[in-house]
Amino acid sequence: MSNAHDQATWNTLQTYLEREDVLLAPFAMHSRDSQGRKCPETDHPYRGPYQRDRDRVLHSAAYRRLADKTQVFTGEMGDYHRTRLTHTLEVASIARTIGRALRLNEDLIEALALLHDIGHPPYGHAGEDALNECLSRWGGFSHNQYGLCLVEELEVRYHEFPGLNLTHEVLQGQGSRVDKQSGPCPLLEVQVVDLADSITYDAHDTDDALALGLLTFDDLLETVLIREMAQRVQKRAGELSGEMLRKLVVHELIELQVGDVLTHGGQWLHEHEPVSAAVLCESGFRLGPGTDMAQNKKELEAFLYERVYRHPKLVRERSLGQAQLKTMFAGYQQWPELMPARFQSRADTVGLPRSVGEYLAGMTDRYCSQQFERHFSN
Ligand code: MG
Repeated sequence: MSNAHDQATWNTLQTYLEREDVLLAPFAMHSRDSQGRKCPETDHPYRGPYQRDRDRVLHSAAYRRLADKTQVFTGEMGDYHRTRLTHTLEVASIARTIGRALRLNEDLIEALALLHDIGHPPYGHAGEDALNECLSRWGGFSHNQYGLCLVEELEVRYHEFPGLNLTHEVLQGQGSRVDKQSGPCPLLEVQVVDLADSITYDAHDTDDALALGLLTFDDLLETVLIREMAQRVQKRAGELSGEMLRKLVVHELIELQVGDVLTHGGQWLHEHEPVSAAVLCESGFRLGPGTDMAQNKKELEAFLYERVYRHPKLVRERSLGQAQLKTMFAGYQQWPELMPARFQSRADTVGLPRSVGEYLAGMTDRYCSQQFERHFSN
């Protein structure tokens, strides 16, 4: 500890507070204005509070498990497409790009981005729907809510408190994902992660679906946005086809969406110059795409929904995963002794169905199907 302190004292680099004063916009969330943590902790000599939160998420078991959780396409379908972890990293990267351009707090953005999907159960949204159905009599299941439960209760890293003891701002940011409609206007850092999530999946689901052959490029030309992207690419690079066209179009899709958010958001921020993050939140300002982009994104998303997410190949995978989860939900309730001791005793606090749901939600795709084979497939 004294070593770290000495280093920070003679280090000619600025402290994180000084650095934030120089680099961040007045409307960014500054660490010095943080409402702190539920269990107070002493400041770290050289890591800011949101940097510590980012590290806590990064070192959590739930985060590592994202490597083997379905984003949209399962492991059975090949090895090109995104997993929940690589999706998360793409979101973090795009969100930081937007955040840096707007001079926001990148540490907070990164913490929120790495956290945003941590509560996803195995088998993607299909898994979430199955658990929601299983738990319908006990309050249902949502991955956003479960993400909070993981970092507040289930992750064990410290002897002094349960969970990761993250800052108020990170917890509130994740909380705003649970209740998007009625909560207060979120910090810009939170809004940026939300936007980056949608920019990211629109682009990578398009890319993955093409690479997996679920769609052809001609199919996608039905949508205004892809038509526009293809024209822009061909204007720049000439007539292209196949893999190169796909890659350049996906690149353009990210580039144009990010540019659009920056143009619209940047203009508003320049005109209104909010003097603090609190003032910005009070204004109710929502960062987002311009009207045309919003409409074109909607069209692309509706197209992906119809043609990719409901593709027969995915529907088949989905129903297999859902059937597994439902059998396991009933099975672990019948034989709770098959669960680890901590989930057996957690049933005393949250009830057996919820505890079983939490145990299942924490599993990776692979572990889930292994446990299914081991205990429940006759
Ligand atoms: Mg996501």
